Amino acid sequence: MTIPSSSGQSSSTWAHACAACKHQRRKCKSDCPLARYFPADQPDRFVNAYRHFGVSNILRIIRGVRPEDRDAAMNSIMMESNIRARDPVGGCYGIICKLELQLRDLYDELYDVKRELALYHAQEQSMLNPNADDAALDKEGY
Ligand SMILES: [Zn+2]
Repeated sequence: MTIPSSSGQSSSTWAHACAACKHQRRKCKSDCPLARYFPADQPDRFVNAYRHFGVSNILRIIRGVRPEDRDAAMNSIMMESNIRARDPVGGCYGIICKLELQLRDLYDELYDVKRELALYHAQEQSMLNPNADDAALDKEGY
């Protein structure tokens, strides 16, 4: 293993390190579990995840899930850290609150549209059968 110089110059090993190993100044081995998710050319992706989760927690999370779920878990980690970086106060909860508010507004709008539609249907029926009420009354003998 070659150690990078303090000036940040890259050796051949260093140049191929993933963003996580590069950030931690470690040798990136061929079986590095983070290399797949943190390519060297996207260091910001790792920095956000590192700030909000830490490397040991990220490793614990991806080792704790089934291999087929690791991509989804890493997507979740990266999305949560990016959202938290953009909105340190609200984070994901802030987005959930905004979406719940939008959903409530859309349900209200849907309710109004359905009510208006029912009104139009009733008007259409009365225009098609203007004497329907009178005919019903005649049958009953009134
Ligand atoms: Zn690595």
